[in-house]
Amino acid sequence: MTRAVPTKYAAVVVGAGPAGVAALGNLLELGLNKIAWIDPSFDGGKINKNYREVPSNTKVSFFQTFATGVQPFRSVIQKTPTPNAFSVLNKLDQADTCSLHYAADLCRALTDGMLKLDQVSQYRGTVVAADLKETTSNWTVDIKLQDSSSSHIQVTTSRIILCTGSSPTNPPLPISGTSIESLDLDTVLKPSILYDHIPKNQPTTVAVIGASHSAILALMNFVDLARSSHPNLRIKWFTRHPLRYAEFMDGWILRDNTGLKGQAAQFAREQLEDACLSKSDAGRFIRKIDTSSGREDAAYKAELPECTHIVHAIGYQRNALPSLTRNNNKSPLGEIEWDSEFGGFVDQQNEVVPGLHGAGIAFPEKVVDPMGNVEHAVGFFKFMKFLKRVTPSWV
Ligand SMILES: Cc1cc2nc3c(=O)[nH]c(=O)nc-3n(C[C@H](O)[C@H](O)[C@H](O)COP(=O)(O)OP(=O)(O)OC[C@H]3O[C@@H](n4cnc5c(N)ncnc54)[C@H](O)[C@@H]3O)c2cc1C
Repeated sequence: MTRAVPTKYAAVVVGAGPAGVAALGNLLELGLNKIAWIDPSFDGGKINKNYREVPSNTKVSFFQTFATGVQPFRSVIQKTPTPNAFSVLNKLDQADTCSLHYAADLCRALTDGMLKLDQVSQYRGTVVAADLKETTSNWTVDIKLQDSSSSHIQVTTSRIILCTGSSPTNPPLPISGTSIESLDLDTVLKPSILYDHIPKNQPTTVAVIGASHSAILALMNFVDLARSSHPNLRIKWFTRHPLRYAEFMDGWILRDNTGLKGQAAQFAREQLEDACLSKSDAGRFIRKIDTSSGREDAAYKAELPECTHIVHAIGYQRNALPSLTRNNNKSPLGEIEWDSEFGGFVDQQNEVVPGLHGAGIAFPEKVVDPMGNVEHAVGFFKFMKFLKRVTPSWV
C-alpha cells in the first residue's frame, strides 16, 4: 500500500541498534516531537542478534553511562519495573567487563521503552530508498514493510539519520582451487551455533585469518571447542602483525578502539604471545603462521590446502545503504563521503548533502589521540558521546 500523502516527520532514524536508539534519544531530548524509527526487528541490532555470547571489551560503567546519557532513556529506566536490564547491570562490578548479553538486554529494554513514546512512530521494515528534493531539502523515504505483503510506504522528512550498522568483511579465499568451507565471523562469535558448524568426529582444521579483537575471540571459541566437544579440531592462525593491546596512558588510552582489551587481551597475553604459545593450553590446538612482509602468498599456498574451514576476522564494513537519489529519482546521489566532524556527508562536489546524517559502527567519529594516531570511535558510550556533540547542529 502506498499512501497518497506521505506522513511528514521531523526526523527519520534508520536502524535500531545501539546507535539508532541513541540517535533517537538525543533527537527527542533536543525537542523533536515526531520521529519515524525504522528497523526490520527492533531487537537491539547486532549486539543482540550476534554478540550476546561475546565478552565485552568495555567496562560495565560505560553501558551505564550510555543508558543514562539522555533524559528519554532515564525516564524509560524509571518507568520499567525492576528487576530490569538496567538494574541488573547496576549490580555488576562497574569496573569490570561483562558478557555482551547484558548490553544487548539494555539496548532492547531502551528500545521497548522508546517505542511506547507518542513522539515515536515505529515502522517495522527496511528503508530501501531516499530521494532528496533539492529545492526544499526534503527527503522522501521509501520503506519496505516487514509484513506478509512486503508493501511499501513513503514518509517525508528534512533529516535522515543512518544507523545501519556493519558486517564482517568477507574477502575471497586467498588461494583458488581449494574447497575450503567459509565460516561467517558472526557464526564463529556465537559458540552455541558454532558448535554445530564444526564436525565433531572427523579431523578438522580451521584457518583463522587476522589478529583483530574478533580474531582473538574466534581463537578463544575454537580452543574451547577443541578442548571439550571437538577433540579433532585444530587451528591454523594466519597473522601478519604482532598482537596489539590497548594501553592505559596518562589520562587516555593508546589503541583505545583497535587494541585488544578485556578477556581477549588476557587470553592473547597469557596464551598466544610467541613466548608462551608453544607451552600454553591454546598452543596444543593452534599453530601460528606468519604472513608478514611478503610471506603471505607462500604461506597460504603451503598451509591453506590442508584446512577444511576458513574464517576471516579482518574487520567490518558498512551494510549496504538505501538507494540515495535527487529530484524524483532523476539522478543518483553518487559517491558520498562520511565526515564525522559534523556527522554528515558531502557529495563529489564536496557539497554538504542536506539533512543526511549518520552514527554508529557504520559512521563512527574519527578521533586523534595525543600521539597523533587516528582511530574510529566505536562502542555504546562513544556513540552517545558523538551524538551529544553533533545532534544539536542537526536540529
Ligand atoms: C565483536 C564485537 C564486539 C563488540 N564489543 C563491544 C563492547 O564490548 N562494547 C561496546 O560498547 N561496543 C562493542 N562493539 C561495538 C558496537 O557497540 C557494536 O558493533 C554495535 O552493534 C554497533 O551498533 P550499531 O547500532 O551501529 O549497528 P547494529 O547493531 O548493526 O544495528 C544496525 C541496525 O540497523 C538495521 N538496518 C540496517 N539497514 C537498514 C535499513 N536500510 N533499514 C532499516 N534498518 C536497517 C539493522 O537491521 C540493525 O538492526 C562490538 C562490536 C563487535 C563487532
